[in-house]
Amino acid sequence: MEQLSLELHSSAFSYQLTRSRRKTLVIYVKSGKVDVRAPLKAPQKWVNEFITEKTPWILRQLADQQRRLQQRLVLADGTRFTLAGQPLTLHIALSSRPRAVCHGTTLTLYVKERRRDRIEKLFLDWLQQQAADYMPPKVREYARKLGVEQRFSKVTWRKTRTKWGHCDEDGVIQFNWLLMLAPRDVLDYLIAHETSHLRYLNHSTRFWRTVESVCPDYKQHREWLTRNGHSLWPAT
Ligand SMILES: [Zn+2]
Repeated sequence: MEQLSLELHSSAFSYQLTRSRRKTLVIYVKSGKVDVRAPLKAPQKWVNEFITEKTPWILRQLADQQRRLQQRLVLADGTRFTLAGQPLTLHIALSSRPRAVCHGTTLTLYVKERRRDRIEKLFLDWLQQQAADYMPPKVREYARKLGVEQRFSKVTWRKTRTKWGHCDEDGVIQFNWLLMLAPRDVLDYLIAHETSHLRYLNHSTRFWRTVESVCPDYKQHREWLTRNGHSLWPAT
């Protein structure tokens, strides 16, 4: 495989060209980077024409990725967010004793210094505590409705980018606690989804019917997560 980098600034973006034993030209736009894959002997003219033709699409992808990045949660003084649908405002204050205190509609994060990593850690720890209070009882509630209480073992936590939740054959349900920042219906949908896996460990029609029985508008909430899930991640 031949790797060739080249930068073209004429079209307002740069790209990396990789030649390999492939037959077609393809363009990937990921994390703000443009990656062009071409056959070993494809003439540069052909590659250029292809890129020119795809430029409107590439620019749309880049703009979309930039927009997604900007929509991410910024943990700063005055930031508004929701916790299980409840509106809260973030307040950052200095203190020698770091802690998170929620009073009324204000969450105050007391930090020793205004460092982004300290603020984020305190916020995420607080959020996980909120998730631990909210999510397991909700699982039990849905499990009761679905008659699968005895299959439920416990809830574990994992902050992964690829999945909001997971359920295994031992009845262990895993959640990403950032879900607490989603609208209440979306949060409850995901809990209903994972709880329904206690009945069916797949995404069959029967599985979706089970989800629907406890969450009739599930399609809309699933769609919300696909479109907006990225906005629940704190910007780093
Ligand atoms: Zn699933």
